[in-house]
Amino acid sequence: MNTPCNAAETHTVFNQPPPLDPYNLFTTDTALREALQQAPVQWAETQLNDYGYLSGHTLFSAGFLANENMPQFHSHDRFGHRMDQVAFHPAYHQLMQTAIEHGLPSSPWQTPQPGAHVARAAMMYLHNQVEAGSCCPLTMTFAAVPAIRHQPDIAAHWLPLITARHYDPANKPWFEKPGVTIGMAMTEKQGGTDVRANTTRARPLGQSGPGQLYALTGHKWFCSAPMSDAFLVLAQTDKGLSCFLLPRWREDGQRNGFYIQRLKDKLGNRSNASSEVEFREAHAWLVGEEGRGVATIIDMVALTRFDCITGSAALMRQAVAQAVHHCSHRQVCGKVLTDHPLIQNVLADLALESEAALAFSLRIAQSLDHPDDEQEQLFCRIATAIGKYWVCKRAPGHINEAQECLGGAGYVEESILPRLYREAPVNSIWEGSGNVQCLDILRAMQRQPDSLEAVFAELEKTAGTDPQLGQYITTLKKDLVNTSNFHYEARRLVEKLAICLQGSLLLQTGNALVADAFLRARLQPEGLAYGTLPTGIPCTQLIERTRPL
Ligand SMILES: Cc1cc2nc3c(=O)[nH]c(=O)nc-3n(C[C@H](O)[C@H](O)[C@H](O)COP(=O)(O)OP(=O)(O)OC[C@H]3O[C@@H](n4cnc5c(N)ncnc54)[C@H](O)[C@@H]3O)c2cc1C
Repeated sequence: MNTPCNAAETHTVFNQPPPLDPYNLFTTDTALREALQQAPVQWAETQLNDYGYLSGHTLFSAGFLANENMPQFHSHDRFGHRMDQVAFHPAYHQLMQTAIEHGLPSSPWQTPQPGAHVARAAMMYLHNQVEAGSCCPLTMTFAAVPAIRHQPDIAAHWLPLITARHYDPANKPWFEKPGVTIGMAMTEKQGGTDVRANTTRARPLGQSGPGQLYALTGHKWFCSAPMSDAFLVLAQTDKGLSCFLLPRWREDGQRNGFYIQRLKDKLGNRSNASSEVEFREAHAWLVGEEGRGVATIIDMVALTRFDCITGSAALMRQAVAQAVHHCSHRQVCGKVLTDHPLIQNVLADLALESEAALAFSLRIAQSLDHPDDEQEQLFCRIATAIGKYWVCKRAPGHINEAQECLGGAGYVEESILPRLYREAPVNSIWEGSGNVQCLDILRAMQRQPDSLEAVFAELEKTAGTDPQLGQYITTLKKDLVNTSNFHYEARRLVEKLAICLQGSLLLQTGNALVADAFLRARLQPEGLAYGTLPTGIPCTQLIERTRPL
């Protein structure tokens, strides 16, 4: 037994905060619990409580392990056989298994009850806070469902496996597994945004048409989670860009012509493997109509964009929770940090941004829970793009500011903050980066003007309760009448739409303290950095409700 040696001790350690974890991420999140009261999710209370506990205990530490031990690509086995395998640390598998067993990629499809999407979003919000890399395959598996439904014969085989709560990471055919995961590969070297420039070709192996088997030849420049059991991919046929489901193993039990070239060396999102792949006569089924690939896969893209919003909201929540926790225990110049007005202003501002992001995510989830309500679907169509633009863009700066609240400790890998910071930019880049969201909003406004009307109808719900918000909405409406200069002005206008929506949603949540502070701070900002809230904002109360313990 090693006896600690005190002889060399030079000092007593004091004025260091205790670690925040282990803790229950759900029971300690006042904003989340309040926001959930707006949706019919009382049935999910126990599972959220359980997942909040798991997230703050086992998954929290698994997140560190899965990121310290990054996935390794093995092209061949030791005998020289090609195997295209990515090996993950057991902690990654633990994260995946726990999430899948708790229905994170499947619950609203498996049991489409009132509030199902809201409850799932809340579960993702918890998981993302402690490990965001595994959320990539969880999201893609979840989001693939509406796209695959375009092809009922394929869906009949695949959806029961996608929605089964079984994680089987073995490198074997999908039809030998009790559950599967799905990836997505659209981006090619010559263009990610402009998928019409895709050069991957598909030729029918027999008959052509929906549900038929084709052989695909080409490449994808980004293909995340390459150990997924199948991928929704885009490839050109004689009729144009089409959507295919490409399994990693063929129906005859042979490996498909799916070859991993290498793994990307990424800034963050490190537990998750992202790869470059080649298809060499890879077998794949046509999903939906030939030549209508974008129209088919967009149903998947819309949901991955939604999850990016939830993911960014989660990163911000974890960052501000860490910052408030630290500052509540750290003394500087004889006073605990949370008693210093200058840092109160920063923490309260971070808290407001985090709550507004959460409100946005849950409101879109609510609209997903009403697939037959046309107004809700129009709202969802355009609000997803607005939220993807704004919430994802706000996260990196927010997390950096939270890091600063911890001082040097926030820059050190033993804290979770560097990982949150590295993770944050990916949500704004993938699945359509910022400008692409703005252009998508313009497209929606032009092709479905009712979608913008749906946003204004949402804003009208609260326009009368706050005169400043009412005035802001009126001006914004006028600004959006003439879209001739939209390509230049889009970011400014989308930002205003986002802020209006966030203010309105916070008002609807019914917490006047938060809503009033947000509207005062964001409708006429007095500074550009976080921590420039106007005087009179109840900072200590905002910090108090954000405190995780
Ligand atoms: C970690 C990671 C994982 C990924 N995983 C996957 C995956 O699994 N599957 C997959 O298919 N893709 C994946 N991607 C790719 C990602 O979706 C693309 O990188 C993204 O869509 C942007 O495409 P691009 O890189 O080709 O950039 P480009 O399309 O070249 O865009 C560059 C910039 O130009 C802007 N831009 C584009 N068009 C316009 C315009 N008309 N006007 C003004 N500005 C414009 C964009 O907003 C962007 O800022 C991943 C990316 C990352 C970083």
